[in-house]
Amino acid sequence: MNSSSHPISRRTVLSAGAGTAGLLVTTSTVGATSAVAAGIPWPKLRKSLVGTLYQPSTSAYAQVAHGTNPRYDGINPKAVARCVSTGDVAACIAFARRYAVPFTVRSGGHAASGWSTGTGLVIDTTLMNAITIDGAARTATIGAGARLIDVHRATTDQSLALPTGTCPDVGISGLTMGGGIGPMTRLWGLTCDRLVAATVVTADGKSQLVNPTRFAGLYFALRGGGGGSFGVLTSLTMSLDTMPAAIDSYSLSYPFSATPSVLKGFQSIVATADRRFGVEVQFRAVRSSGKINVTVRGDWAGPQSDVAAQVDALVTAIGVAPTTRSILHQSFVSSVLDHAGCGSFGSCVPGADITRVPGSATSSMVSTPLTDAGIAVFMQQLRNGLTVPGQTYTGATLDGMRGAVSDTTTSDSAFAHRDALFMVHYLARWSPNTPALDPRPFDQYVSGFRNAMTPYVGPSAYVNYQDPLIADYGNAYWPGTFDRLRAVKTNVDPTDLFHFAQSVPPA
Ligand SMILES: Cc1cc2nc3c(=O)[nH]c(=O)nc-3n(C[C@H](O)[C@H](O)[C@H](O)COP(=O)(O)OP(=O)(O)OC[C@H]3O[C@@H](n4cnc5c(N)ncnc54)[C@H](O)[C@@H]3O)c2cc1C
Repeated sequence: MNSSSHPISRRTVLSAGAGTAGLLVTTSTVGATSAVAAGIPWPKLRKSLVGTLYQPSTSAYAQVAHGTNPRYDGINPKAVARCVSTGDVAACIAFARRYAVPFTVRSGGHAASGWSTGTGLVIDTTLMNAITIDGAARTATIGAGARLIDVHRATTDQSLALPTGTCPDVGISGLTMGGGIGPMTRLWGLTCDRLVAATVVTADGKSQLVNPTRFAGLYFALRGGGGGSFGVLTSLTMSLDTMPAAIDSYSLSYPFSATPSVLKGFQSIVATADRRFGVEVQFRAVRSSGKINVTVRGDWAGPQSDVAAQVDALVTAIGVAPTTRSILHQSFVSSVLDHAGCGSFGSCVPGADITRVPGSATSSMVSTPLTDAGIAVFMQQLRNGLTVPGQTYTGATLDGMRGAVSDTTTSDSAFAHRDALFMVHYLARWSPNTPALDPRPFDQYVSGFRNAMTPYVGPSAYVNYQDPLIADYGNAYWPGTFDRLRAVKTNVDPTDLFHFAQSVPPA
């Protein structure tokens, strides 16, 4: 069955408190076979948990009710279970099954689509964030609720490192299950490539150890198959690398008019450069200034004596002198903190130091270089962003891939974009002071950007930027691995308990 013909449970909700215009938000709920039933015996669940069950009447509910994107704050769960153990998670699944309670699973709460929230039960792993490092085995066993900044703090403390994304409070669970792209991707591969074992509570309510020989199909699915479809991940064991003592971080800025040269140079470098050379291009269209800023940046993880030559090769490939150029030799920890936008580990606490910014996002996975015609459309779409009312910025980030990404195949893991040159993250942000602004113009902008580029880059997309407007999502997120994912789903969740608008359906 084609994914687009799978029945979906996404519901459109007119959020309360959205002002006179009304805030149109969408949500979907795992296990949502019916509307949230009245008369659910929540006290029974509360009693069976070691952790805490929050309901709208509970004090501190407001602090735990929502994920990190405030545009979804109008969706209020009936209950949030802050689990502290795999047993708590199993109790939630058993309860949800028994009383047909719609539920969603949340770890870092960064789902672009808002699909880690809902109006039923939210099974929240935030407090399951312990991290144990085995220095001899060079592994980290990480609780499902840990954020990336926690992981970096624990691993670098032992002079070890894990390739992850950049945002400090993204959850390790969602990131890993969707792939995990960041500054060290070309050198060390995706975050999901580091998963050596996991603990998962499956639809039957049992906790299972998953590794290459136990539940091998589920192990395949956890590495790129996306969150929310196969069970609740409660712990991850990841293989680590030796932390480089120091790293060279470079940054080049260009005028927007140089974009064709920048993109051509970027594309050729991604395909050919030493894998120790990371590269991304950021385009930020800022309405208030009327400008589109272009920055090419990355890290070199080889000898410091070679960094100038590496950056020179990039500038030569671009063929235009940058407006500004900087290279900073710094500790690996400083580079992680720089990417995260944090002054220190101590000043980067989710919920305290990190501002929740409303936004829209979608993506393309690009395997063949953009042509001149594609680049012209890309530039026009960036210009269009300047006219989106209310934006603080719109734009796109191009994350260079290949290198170690293509060392793993689609037979080994569900991540399907092993030959991608780069991932495009289309984005729009608006002010945290106006989180309830109607999100539709922003969604339309990012979706229009992706649609305009599709003839040039193809339909593939990154499941970690779940986009409700991608109809044939199965083939977009998992070209070539979708059928196997569906077979795994049939084995581990034949009744489709873990179901949401873009979940993997049984075969
Ligand atoms: C500001 C920002 C920056 C980002 N930066 C990067 C980046 O640098 N690189 C990159 O690759 N991606 C990046 N992402 C995308 C990010 O990887 C995904 O949004 C990811 O899914 C977030 O994981 P989470 O645990 O925080 O999210 P959640 O919202 O908690 O979960 C995401 C999905 O996984 C499910 N899920 C959550 N926990 C579990 C669990 N324990 N078991 C089973 N299913 C679960 C949820 O139901 C949901 O469907 C970024 C996103 C944002 C918003």
